[in-house]
Amino acid sequence: MTGRCHCSLVSLFCMQCGRQQIIQQIIQMGQERDEFMRAYDRYKILGRKSVLGKLMILIILCSLMTAVLLPEGTVYAQWMEGVTNPKDIVIASPADNYTTTSSKVSILGACDYDYPLYMNNKQIETTALGFFTQYVTLSIGKNVFTFTNNKKTKTLTIIRKAVSDSGSIAQEPDYIAYTTDKYGVLDNEYTMPRSSIDSTDVDCMPLTDKTAFKILGEQGSYYKIYDGTFIHKSYVDVYSGALPANKVSAVTVTDDVENNLIVAKLKMKVNSLYKVELADSKVILTLYETISSPKAALSQNDTVKRVVTNIYKSTTRTVVYTFRLYEDAMVCGYDVEFKDGIMIFTLKKAPHLTEEGSLAGATVLLDAGHGGEATGAVGPLGLLGPVEKDINLAITLYTKEYLEQMGATVVLTRSDDTDLSLHERVAVIREQKPDVSMSIHANAMPQAANFNLSYGFLSYYSYNETTNAHTLINDSMISLLGYQARAPRKQSLSLTRITTCAALLIETAFLSYPSDYEYLIQVENQKAIAEGAAAAIQEYLEGVAVYGAKMSADTAAAEREQITYVVVWGDTLSSIAGKFGVSLDSLAAANNITNINYIYGGQVLVIPQ
Ligand SMILES: [Zn+2]
Repeated sequence: MTGRCHCSLVSLFCMQCGRQQIIQQIIQMGQERDEFMRAYDRYKILGRKSVLGKLMILIILCSLMTAVLLPEGTVYAQWMEGVTNPKDIVIASPADNYTTTSSKVSILGACDYDYPLYMNNKQIETTALGFFTQYVTLSIGKNVFTFTNNKKTKTLTIIRKAVSDSGSIAQEPDYIAYTTDKYGVLDNEYTMPRSSIDSTDVDCMPLTDKTAFKILGEQGSYYKIYDGTFIHKSYVDVYSGALPANKVSAVTVTDDVENNLIVAKLKMKVNSLYKVELADSKVILTLYETISSPKAALSQNDTVKRVVTNIYKSTTRTVVYTFRLYEDAMVCGYDVEFKDGIMIFTLKKAPHLTEEGSLAGATVLLDAGHGGEATGAVGPLGLLGPVEKDINLAITLYTKEYLEQMGATVVLTRSDDTDLSLHERVAVIREQKPDVSMSIHANAMPQAANFNLSYGFLSYYSYNETTNAHTLINDSMISLLGYQARAPRKQSLSLTRITTCAALLIETAFLSYPSDYEYLIQVENQKAIAEGAAAAIQEYLEGVAVYGAKMSADTAAAEREQITYVVVWGDTLSSIAGKFGVSLDSLAAANNITNINYIYGGQVLVIPQ
């Protein structure tokens, strides 16, 4: 995220700085800033819905900018409810007497926009609403910055400490391999393993509560577990002795039509360490340290064509169940849960919409970031203005409204100003199993960064899911809202590394960038973002959805006109395979036949297509 905005006089449609550019042009054109602000105030008084108000501001603006076309929605609209501009010098960050070792920091604040603002007697740039940021150089010791605006003065002291070079370089702790048997059981809802102790990659998939595994050794605050990954010690209960080998005694796979899920239940002796891989046409479940693999009893459904079970080999002690999908079927997420000796492995089917042009049937989860005591980032008005949690909630509630108008069922993690832990938010998603989850945040830069350099929309995801939801939603929001094009960023975040459904997190704009803040705090723009988010989600859901009334599993299977063959005396599996022009292996796999020499008269075989 580097480089300044390249909006020119010609290109006015940058949503992030468009308005600032327009204001600057008005000033550059020799017009009075006051004139614009009076027009703005009048517009505010008249209200957003007033046609007369809109007309009035349009006329005034047109007269101000004869050569400039104003993009719709960039006029100053309503502030959020209950918020007024204090029109005073506000230093939002850093706090007075802030101490740092950085040589430069950004100062973020606001002033009375009717008057110029000076920092140490030099006039500095503000936005139309009086917001500013300055990237200042610090000397060792005390640095005092004096701000004057409308006969008022405020000072900010920043203390820069010299970096002491006596500090030793932190060394990575040594790995200690255990010489006696130890095993661990997870005591945490959702744990992210990592491939090394200092890695924050997202190549590992999370493990569910109560998963048991052999511990190979330890390194610093981490245990190295049987599959070679590392897990933080605080999540693991450790036991002495060897973990007994796991035995799977029964596997059933059923269709949960109501919740749009395929539910596999694997009865097992140990809550086995596992790995799940989602591919285009299959889902692979690997169980480690497992020494029996009964065939799966698969009930008819519209998603899983068959479950292929590998034969256990003593060398690998690993069992693999491959869920092969119908050609037009899709799995959009999965979850694992251990309950009373059963591994419940659920696959989320493609969203099921009841009719064209409506999102009825789809469930969308919206998560408004932060809340309560957790304010999130603050903008130039500090706590006097809307902070991140307020903006996130407002946009979330508008998005909910739009999605509900489209027919979707919307579930929120919070609908008011309450604080929720990340764990609680994740738990809601795992419980509700929505079709898609979007966490809504706003961004800010760390104090030592130049706030002027980072602005605009960003989105985050953790996995390359088969539905590609993160790219589709990111790209369509960018195009719908006219934002600067950016690819979604891959990062391990609590609200994106869930595997239950397609999940992404959006950062609507930067609170640390003054004109982004101006954009974010206005109701009109919050509604525009929400409308964009809802439309992008709609586009995604419609793109991957299955349409029509939900069918019972039997009807769905019948519709597929499965080809079957009844075995007669004298048949061999290879003769039947030859008769239908399919391979012996695929015929055996389609019918979960492990011993190809054993078929019986009257047996009904499914012929793979
Ligand atoms: Zn946030």
